[in-house]
Amino acid sequence: MYNAKAYSAAGATAPLAATRIPRRAATPHDVQIEILFCGICHSDLHAVRDEWYSVMPTVYPIVPGHEIVGRVTAVGSEVSRFQPGDLVGVGCMVDSDHSCPSCRDNLEQFCPDAVFTYNTPDRHGTAPVTYGGYSESIVADERFVLKVPENLELAGVAPLLCAGITTYSPIRRWGDIQGKKVGVVGLGGLGHMGVKLARAFGARVVVFTTSPSKRDDALRLGAQEVVVSTDPEPMQRHAGSFDFILDTVSAEHDINAYLQMLAVDGEMTLVGAPAKPLQVSAFALLFGRKRLSGSLIGGIRETQEMLDFCGAHNITADVEVIPIQKVNEAYERLTRSDVKYRFSIDMASLKG
Ligand SMILES: [Zn+2]
Ligand SMILES: [Zn+2]
Repeated sequence: MYNAKAYSAAGATAPLAATRIPRRAATPHDVQIEILFCGICHSDLHAVRDEWYSVMPTVYPIVPGHEIVGRVTAVGSEVSRFQPGDLVGVGCMVDSDHSCPSCRDNLEQFCPDAVFTYNTPDRHGTAPVTYGGYSESIVADERFVLKVPENLELAGVAPLLCAGITTYSPIRRWGDIQGKKVGVVGLGGLGHMGVKLARAFGARVVVFTTSPSKRDDALRLGAQEVVVSTDPEPMQRHAGSFDFILDTVSAEHDINAYLQMLAVDGEMTLVGAPAKPLQVSAFALLFGRKRLSGSLIGGIRETQEMLDFCGAHNITADVEVIPIQKVNEAYERLTRSDVKYRFSIDMASLKG
């Protein structure tokens, strides 16, 4: 074991502060990584403040962070796919049971024994729970370490490990969206990745937003059209015309208004997580045989596919880079959606 510098929160109302945490020495199948950038996901904030206590209560201290990019510093004796110096990523998971039906289908995110990157009991016993990426280093099983293309700007790569795969996976699962009409609801951390990825797959992308001020940005990110969802005229005009809609909104909202936008056999997939149950009108689904579904990150194989796709198409997240000392301020801004479109922590700031 060794100690690593990190930022942790001691309780639901405590700020994140500098600390030292134990990390295990690399076992034969482990990769040790020096973290260069870590994105700030909205889940980090929910976990730090214990806002998801009914589903996954937070164990304190918590070290959040699951959008990790860095360089390999050491590998275990049995590791064959990585060597020191390689550029790598770690996303939302660091282990699973490797044997259940989901794992066999490369859907480790649905493994009943999935080990998430933070706040999951630590099988190695290094600490009570796993500690995430707000740290100078991390040690993970090589099966959960991703290769990062060398051509991408690293600060913007970090959010691909959660926001990127969360939007990539449902687009891929829907099928070939080239030439299809695709709606993206909400233009935040997830939505802006959805726009970039759907466009790169050749879809005709329409962004739905409640903020007219986001129009120019949506077009710059790749949308062909922007619909202000509070404006009845364009909502009428687009009704019944979408093949696929990706709903990225985590706040309470009327999903029936968007189900009306779908064509016959159209599908809407939720990737945001509103705290309260949403009302669904059966009629909105019956007329047009429409489907409503959900999606959660993606498996490791698909995450690698997403990174390779982003490398080939030069896609990264739009980020605001911050030193770790500004993380609490960033959380406050995140609660007001005051970021374009993701914070990425420059982990060099932790070394000083
Ligand atoms: Zn996340
Ligand atoms: Zn499993």
